[in-house]
Amino acid sequence: MTSPAPIADPARTPLTGTVALVTGASSGIGEATALALAALGAQVAVVARRADRLDALAGKIEDAGGRALAVGADITDEEQARAAVARTVETFGRLDTVVANAGLMILGPIAGADTADWRRMVDLNVLGLMYTTHAAAPHLLAAAADGSRRVADLVLVSSTAGRVVRGGGGVYNASKYAVTAFGEAFRKEVTRRHLRVSLVEPGAVATELPLQNTAGVQERMRERYSAMELLRAEDVADTIAFIVTRPRHVAVNEVLVRPTDQQD
Ligand code: NDP
Repeated sequence: MTSPAPIADPARTPLTGTVALVTGASSGIGEATALALAALGAQVAVVARRADRLDALAGKIEDAGGRALAVGADITDEEQARAAVARTVETFGRLDTVVANAGLMILGPIAGADTADWRRMVDLNVLGLMYTTHAAAPHLLAAAADGSRRVADLVLVSSTAGRVVRGGGGVYNASKYAVTAFGEAFRKEVTRRHLRVSLVEPGAVATELPLQNTAGVQERMRERYSAMELLRAEDVADTIAFIVTRPRHVAVNEVLVRPTDQQD
């Protein structure tokens, strides 16, 4: 006698039957979020440039009984961002949840900065997120209209730097304030069609994010961070999981989540 198929517990896997796409999933918050959404039952497309990391993550999700698709893409290139969304929909047939998380932080004064660093941040933190949103929007709206949950989610990962200007990171601040404005404008457009747009603003999280900075900036960050118990990537993933598992009539529009020790 064959054993019966395991019965999914809808309370533990509320995203069963849904498809999620996470950008910047090769490390940090994106990787933790992909794992969290897969554990909740979603089929997950993981998007970033480092294909080896994505393959390892997809393997981990599949080994745990989930389904994952690794999509190598540089989302600062509009065509690649669009192709990543298209491949996800071709593979899994739909798209219910997008976590636009890929981002870059290069700190330093405005005067005398290398403006190439500004272009890298704006290209990824602002335009990459916008391209992803634009490509995903019709699929998310279709999922909200026709899916069994009748709701879809776009989660934009901003930062406390999108709420508070401390000085010393003006263009990173500007890029994250842009995410807030873009997200709020898009929320107004689509919320009556049950596409929820949520902004997550983490404080200091222990990830690879500082590594793009000069040794001097990294040292100053280490000093500042040594006074705090930092968030873990899983803490932010947990916040995102909370947002996307609310009932259809509940939209968590904004979450500022900082280490308890972090003052600003
Ligand atoms: P990581 O550096 O670990 O993650 C950044 C991710 O973005 C990586 O997966 C990277 O993958 C991806 N990425 C970079 N460039 C591109 C690109 N051109 N195309 C596609 N993907 C790209 O840092 P975090 O996890 O900390 O950062 C995630 C988000 O969280 C960012 O938006 C960041 O601003 C935000 N944040 C982080 C905080 C922190 O303290 N860590 C605090 C507040 C906000 P790859 O290099 O393989 O492409």
